[in-house]
Amino acid sequence: MTAEEQATTAEPARGENAMEQATMAEPAPGGRFGQFGGMFVPEPLVPACQELDRQFCSAWADPAFKAELDGLLADYAGRPSPVTECPNLSEELGLRLLLKREDLNHTGSHKINNVLGQALLARRMGKTRLVAETGAGQHGVATATAAALFGMECIVYMGAVDMERQALNVFRMRLLGAEVRAAETGSRTLKDAINEALRHWVAVVDSTHYCIGSVMGPHPYPWMVREFQRVVGDEARRQCAEILSGGAPDTVTAAVGGGSNAAGIFAGFVDTGAALVGVEPAGGAAIGRSVPGIVHGSRSYLMQDEWGQVLEASSISAGLDYPGVGPEHAHLAAVGRARYESVTDEEVVDAFGLLARTEGIIAALECAHALAWVARARRELAGTTVLLNLSGRGDKDVAQMMDLLE
Ligand SMILES: *Cc1c(COP(=O)(O)O)cnc(C)c1O
Repeated sequence: MTAEEQATTAEPARGENAMEQATMAEPAPGGRFGQFGGMFVPEPLVPACQELDRQFCSAWADPAFKAELDGLLADYAGRPSPVTECPNLSEELGLRLLLKREDLNHTGSHKINNVLGQALLARRMGKTRLVAETGAGQHGVATATAAALFGMECIVYMGAVDMERQALNVFRMRLLGAEVRAAETGSRTLKDAINEALRHWVAVVDSTHYCIGSVMGPHPYPWMVREFQRVVGDEARRQCAEILSGGAPDTVTAAVGGGSNAAGIFAGFVDTGAALVGVEPAGGAAIGRSVPGIVHGSRSYLMQDEWGQVLEASSISAGLDYPGVGPEHAHLAAVGRARYESVTDEEVVDAFGLLARTEGIIAALECAHALAWVARARRELAGTTVLLNLSGRGDKDVAQMMDLLE
């Protein structure tokens, strides 16, 4: 689906509402974060997105919905996740490093927070099926997990190339009862899986909820997914206040793929003096290149060629090779509330080994990007407190690292 085919709503006005939106509150009418966001979808999906917006607003204002979600997050996912001091690595880097341990959640990352929220909302809307896209397979596994828990049918679109590269996750999804469908168009990777999932959703929208895996897509997804991930930031804010005698860290950092784990932790600190730093892979630095465009339902920064065609991102971490970034991050960058850095695969491999060796924690390669930036910026950060969102555990990455390091 090209941007033109998707673009059925007016483009948001440039600069409008820019400052007020840096607070990570509700988006402006039309789902806008400054000049970014919106609802650029094929006409048949407009009512579905509008209905989802209405239903999410009503659920999010309903204490019973929130209580049920909180119960699931506690008893099924294992929240709250702790904040861990890193005495050894802190000393080595000359700063105070705190980790928000999303790696300790059920299924091994922050993704469970979002899928439990969306599955609960889907059930409230009377939907019996979930459809999802997945790149490396982690969001597919998380969605299949939630579908199993809720007794829902689950269909996951995955690029045919990714299915070969991530055979273990394909098996996990099938074990959880999901149907995995190969996306055979284009580069046969994540962006093609998203297109096919959107196409499928158009045909079955009455029975099916589209469970998007990050803070991207048409309104209300970027906002809704951020709200479902806000629990990470809200918890960390309280935990840091306790550790730092009421204070907040000087810097809050997270890896950015689509941007959901970063949005979740940033939301807890956007109203403090903390610097917010998102870290992208050098081969997928959508914000670093600062080219605005429309893809997969919203206006944001993305990697594209001179004709506006979406480029394929590349990264050592399959979970970060999405060519775009969520529209709220584009806005946070545009108004200067957050900054975005990029690191090379080599720096990431070093950071991955460093955390394992010094603290006994094998991190996912995605969040090793954030640590790679901290290690590189240690002079700038000397003597300050840095909170890093450790978005996932690295079990999934050890085979790849073994091939690389041995
Ligand atoms: C999927 C994933 C990411 C990237 O997704 P965001 O939406 O940017 O958070 C980061 N870390 C882990 C562990 C992941 O599984």
